[in-house]
Amino acid sequence: MEKYKQFGFKLTPQRLAILNYFNGNKEHPSADDIYRAVSKSFPTMSFATVYNTLEALRNKGNVLELTIDPNKKRYDPNTMPHHHLICVKCKRIIDIHKEFSVSVSEDMTQGFDLIGNHIEFYGVCPKCKSIALS
Ligand code: ZN
Ligand code: MN
Repeated sequence: MEKYKQFGFKLTPQRLAILNYFNGNKEHPSADDIYRAVSKSFPTMSFATVYNTLEALRNKGNVLELTIDPNKKRYDPNTMPHHHLICVKCKRIIDIHKEFSVSVSEDMTQGFDLIGNHIEFYGVCPKCKSIALS
């Protein structure tokens, strides 16, 4: 409970359940995934509650919203800089923790002060490759 003090919003049991679901989660779940998982312990929780909680967390910078899949926003509780590997078939998203030295020349940044980057690598994951072969 103590570690959630920073969130600065009222911690209802539903919100706490969502935070607990996120804790250490590397799956980059969608709002739907979160709703399905958390409603197991909170059957009366609405999708709107899940969605509103995600919006609140995102606004406070506690989760990142990934717009990799335009039909389905995905959420990442890991707000440290990292990159992603994305399976184009099953939309699985895997973290890559490595710093890539990418340089952009001044004429390309057009006066922007750069603060970071996010690289998305696309491909077919081992699982989807093995399905294609079978
Ligand atoms: Zn895949
Ligand atoms: Mn990630």
